[in-house]
Amino acid sequence: MALKGLDIFKLSPKKNCKECGSPTCMAFSMKVAQGAVSIDACPYFSEDAKAAMSEATAPPMKTIKVGTGESEYTLGGETVLFRHEKTFVSKTRYAVAVCSCMDDAEIDAKLAAIPAVDYDRISERMFVEMIYVNYSADASTEKYVELVKKAAGLNRVLILGCEDPEAAKAALAVCKDSKPVLNGATPANYEAMNAVAAEAGVVLGVIGANNDELFDNVAALEKLGNKNMLINACTDSVKSAFATAVQFRKAAIKDSNRTCGYPSIVNVAKLAKGDAHMQAALASVFTMKYGSIVVMEQMGYAEALPLYGMRQNLFTDPQKPMKVEPGIYPINGGDENSICLTTVDFALTYFVVSGELERSGVPCNLIINDAGGLSVLTSWAAGKFSSSSIAKFFQEQEIEGKIKCRKLCIPGKVAVLKGELEAKMPGWEIIVAPREAVQLVKFLKDMQ
Ligand code: SF4
Repeated sequence: MALKGLDIFKLSPKKNCKECGSPTCMAFSMKVAQGAVSIDACPYFSEDAKAAMSEATAPPMKTIKVGTGESEYTLGGETVLFRHEKTFVSKTRYAVAVCSCMDDAEIDAKLAAIPAVDYDRISERMFVEMIYVNYSADASTEKYVELVKKAAGLNRVLILGCEDPEAAKAALAVCKDSKPVLNGATPANYEAMNAVAAEAGVVLGVIGANNDELFDNVAALEKLGNKNMLINACTDSVKSAFATAVQFRKAAIKDSNRTCGYPSIVNVAKLAKGDAHMQAALASVFTMKYGSIVVMEQMGYAEALPLYGMRQNLFTDPQKPMKVEPGIYPINGGDENSICLTTVDFALTYFVVSGELERSGVPCNLIINDAGGLSVLTSWAAGKFSSSSIAKFFQEQEIEGKIKCRKLCIPGKVAVLKGELEAKMPGWEIIVAPREAVQLVKFLKDMQ
């Protein structure tokens, strides 16, 4: 049974030193009881006290690590059901599936397409982080091992979709150092698969035909001492996959049922085989509704651009504005002689403005100021986008040494800054651009 805040407080060091980030030991104990922080945040709890509470005070959902080095990812560890309650901590990772039932040409084409999606969006690299390598009983173990070797060459985390303990053992022999996931513990083979996963030191993916069977299978593996697991959402229908993802997460967070508190894998490649549009739609649903790993048949730019953008919005702290890096962004081949436009570093403003500038086809330099990630009017009102801050930013970035053109367009909403900027930035012609970004195309074309 979960411990109450008062029980934890009785065992606390009672120093009230604030090192844990809470004002008092009592406040800290209450947070631990709610599962909002780990007991490890206090350096002074005695080992005996920790041992007495460890199971009861563990976060409701386990944090599982897969992969190694730069390709190590944390899954799970969530403490809330909804993003408006608190930030989600471990973002959904996407995997592309290949299978030993495919012919060589198909496998090569699939693997070659994986690195094709790789881009930055608001300081975050967007790419396919994992490869789901499925074992087909119709193909030989040797073919499967060769496929695993080939997939490992892409330096992604591998998920070995394999329910045959011998084939799993052979595949792990060539890739276990990269800490893949072994996905295939069913009620029929769980003991053998648990032994294989434990020997290789990898995370085990648990499968059940329905939620009851899945729960029993996880419980049976816990009895064997395994706490390093992922649960597979059922794949017989979208409805049951959704039920697994939501019910297990809800039971873990709301009811503190720790047997349900493992990260999940949702295989939309199985749920909507051959239907790329449906897979993209399902991937977005399961990004929002608790898929820790979502497996798809393909990830081209058509799928990636909306999906990764949505993931980035979902897994960021809603209290921190999304910002782009301040600096000079040349657009349409803009160079030192191209006209300059300036605005704030609020990500949405950047994307809207840069999109319209690209549409105009006019070479220009978009100069992004450090405005605390706020929109134009908000940052202006807060004094973060003023004539002084713009002039200071130009000085600090040495923009006059980098750009020869002395024409600077400011957002129409802060036209009031024109006079002050002309005084503070001698030599610059300050031009008031339109109030709305959509009018920039005509504005720039007319200026030419
Ligand atoms: S760090 Fe530990 S001792 Fe200090 S206030 Fe927090 S709970 Fe109390």
